[in-house]
Amino acid sequence: MSTSTVDHAGISVPLGEDYPEIRESVRRICQDFPGEYWRDLDERNAYPEAFVKALTEAGYLSVLIPEEYGGAGLPLRAASVILEEIHAAGCSAGACHAQMYTMGTLLRHGSEEQKRRFLPGIASGELRLQAFGITEPTTGSDTTQIKTKAELVTDPNGDYYVVNGQKVWTSRALYSDLMMLLVRTTPADQVSKKTEGLSVLLVDMREARGNGLEIRPIKAMVNHNTTEIFIDNMKVPAANRIGEAGKGFRYILDGMNAERIIAASEALGDARWFIRKAASYASERVVFGRPIGKNQGVQFPIARSHIETVAAEMMVRKATALFAAGLPCGEDANMAKMLATEAAWHAAEACLQTHGGFGFASEYDVERKWREVRVMQVAPVSTNLILANIAEHTLGLPRSF
Ligand SMILES: Cc1cc2nc3c(=O)[nH]c(=O)nc-3n(C[C@H](O)[C@H](O)[C@H](O)COP(=O)(O)OP(=O)(O)OC[C@H]3O[C@@H](n4cnc5c(N)ncnc54)[C@H](O)[C@@H]3O)c2cc1C
Repeated sequence: MSTSTVDHAGISVPLGEDYPEIRESVRRICQDFPGEYWRDLDERNAYPEAFVKALTEAGYLSVLIPEEYGGAGLPLRAASVILEEIHAAGCSAGACHAQMYTMGTLLRHGSEEQKRRFLPGIASGELRLQAFGITEPTTGSDTTQIKTKAELVTDPNGDYYVVNGQKVWTSRALYSDLMMLLVRTTPADQVSKKTEGLSVLLVDMREARGNGLEIRPIKAMVNHNTTEIFIDNMKVPAANRIGEAGKGFRYILDGMNAERIIAASEALGDARWFIRKAASYASERVVFGRPIGKNQGVQFPIARSHIETVAAEMMVRKATALFAAGLPCGEDANMAKMLATEAAWHAAEACLQTHGGFGFASEYDVERKWREVRVMQVAPVSTNLILANIAEHTLGLPRSF
C-alpha cells in the first residue's frame, strides 16, 4: 500500500504561490462577461468567441507554453489559478481549457520540428488546438479498446496514415483548427499488452473537414460545444504523428494528470461561486419574518460545502506541486479531481436548494452552473473509474476490470 505523504515527503506544497496579480487580472476580464452573456450562449448553443478572444489576447491560454515557443512558460499552478478565477466569476473555461493540457502532449512528446511548427501559432491564438478525440461510442471508459484505426501508407511524397472510425463527445471540434486524435495503429490481436499499438495523430481539421472528416454537433444538457466525429479514409501525414507509433496510450495517460488538475481547479472556482451566491441569497431572502440563512437547515449545507472546498483545495495544491516537481502524481491528481468536483456538486446542490423556486429561474444563473458542474462527475473521467484506480493501485484491492 502506498503512503503518499511519506513518498512525497521531500515536496513542500507552495501555499504562497497564488499569483494574486493574475487572479485580479482574470477577474477584471471576466467582469465583461456577466451572466447574460453566458445565458444567451446557452440558449443558442453558441461558442463564446469573444470570451476566448479576450483570454487569448491577454495571453492566459498560452501560459503553459515555454517562452521559446511564444508562451509565458509558467507552471501548472498558474493555469490552475486562471481557471479557478474564471469559474469563481461565474464564467466557464470549458470552451478553451483543452488548449492548456492537450498542448502538453505535443510539448512533452512532439519532435522539435513539430513544436516549432505548431506551438507559436497556438500561443498567439492563430491556431486553435481545442479538440481531442479519445472517447468512442462503443468503448467508453475502456480506452484501450478503441476501434478507430490508422494504416500507414508509404509514399515517395511523404508517408501518410489512412484513418477510419468514429469518435463521440469530441468537444469544441467545430471551433478548433487542430485535433489530437487517439487511433489504433497495430491491431489489438497483434500486441502483447492492450495498452500498446495506439498512436496519437495531430489532425489539421482545416484540411480534413470534407476530406474524410465529418463533424456533427451533439445537443446536450450543457453548452459544451460537443460533437460526434465520423472518419472515413481521412489522410493524415505521418509527420503529424506525435512521438513513437504504438506508444500513444502512455502519452495520453501522461496528459491526464494535467487534465484532472485543471478540471479540479475549475471545480474549486465553481464551488466558490455557488457558496458566495448561496450565502448572499440566504442573508437577503426573508421568509417567516427572518432571513432564511438564520435557519441551520439552510446554513449547514453551505458551511459544509465551504469546508469541503477548502479541503479539496489542499489536495489540488498538492497534486499541482507534485506535477510541477516532475514527480508521479496520478493518484493525487485523481483524488484532487474527485474531491474538488464533489465539493462543487455539493455546493451546487446547496445553492439551488437555498434559492428555492428561484434556483430554477435562468436569470439567477444557478440552474445553468448546476448543470455544468454535474458533468464533472462523468467527464473528463467518471468518479467510479477514480475509485477503482485508488482501490486497486493505492489500496492493493483485487483488480475489478
Ligand atoms: C460534456 C462532455 C464533454 C466531453 N468531452 C470529451 C472530449 O472532448 N473528448 C473525449 O475524448 N471525450 C469527451 N467526453 C467523454 C467523457 O470522457 C466520457 O463520457 C467519460 O470518460 C465516460 O465514458 P462513457 O460516457 O463512454 O461512459 P461508460 O464508459 O459507458 O460508463 C458509463 C457508466 O458506467 C460506469 N462504469 C463503466 N465501467 C465501470 C467499471 N469497470 N466499474 C465501475 N463503473 C464503471 C462509469 O463510471 C459511468 O458512470 C465528454 C463527455 C461529456 C459528457
